[in-house]
Amino acid sequence: MSTNVEGKVVVITGASSGLGETTARHLAAKGAKVFLGARREDRLATVVADIVRAGGQAAARKVDVTRRAEVNAFVQAAVEKFGRMDVLVNNAGLMALAPISKTLVDEWDRMVDINIKGVLYGVAAALPVFARQKGGHIINLASVAGHKVTMGGAVYCATKHAVRAISEGVRQEVDGIRTTIISPGAVQSELPLGISDPETSAAIEQFYRQTAIPADAVARAIAFAIEQPADVDINEILLRPTAQEL
Ligand code: NDP
Repeated sequence: MSTNVEGKVVVITGASSGLGETTARHLAAKGAKVFLGARREDRLATVVADIVRAGGQAAARKVDVTRRAEVNAFVQAAVEKFGRMDVLVNNAGLMALAPISKTLVDEWDRMVDINIKGVLYGVAAALPVFARQKGGHIINLASVAGHKVTMGGAVYCATKHAVRAISEGVRQEVDGIRTTIISPGAVQSELPLGISDPETSAAIEQFYRQTAIPADAVARAIAFAIEQPADVDINEILLRPTAQEL
């Protein structure tokens, strides 16, 4: 079946687990050429091998999104491998929830570095490529936490509000490219493992066990945004488990 995903080069950060991995597998099955990045190279290699074995096209390169030069090299490697880049999915993220009064400042720094600066470095690396190609698509993973502020989520929510602001700014200012914000509620992944505060971790694990939906739901939303005709830009998709109240 021919779709508007087939043949597109989709570059995904944070593709070693969770939403990024599932999205890579989903898009590759629809005929996209996927280029995967994260820090855990062994995990990336497994995903690439699975996709290739199933007849898809995939490659990977180690990247730490908090390092600007690495993000640049990652995007350049994707363009060298597949000849162009149609979509960049800025998906890498960290959710170190904790009461702000615990002042886990190192974790605040890491969330700002990964969730905000990582996205900005991706945008900076992509824009010259898209200018040369006269088109492209940036998809940024925000969250329900980018729409509201929840207990223990001051900094994480701040980073996800920032992702939405950055995405909307790019959309308004840069001609000819599409910008999509994906804002999920609770989705099964390794994200809760990023919580070091014991009470918050226990509460979130229970919430995820009761509520979270499979990562495929997000992969399908991303595919929906990509497969629209070039003159249609899906600006944001906000999706929750049906069972999620807040
Ligand atoms: P996971 O923890 O499963 O995946 C996070 C990914 O980010 C991993 O592949 C990890 O790879 C990568 N990553 C983390 N730090 C870095 C870094 N410095 N450089 C490069 N890659 C990095 O969680 P999810 O799949 O759930 O998270 C994906 C995105 O979705 C995040 O932005 C998250 O905030 C967002 N989101 C998730 C929701 C959920 O309920 N799951 C809800 C709303 C939004 P590695 O460790 O190998 O580098």
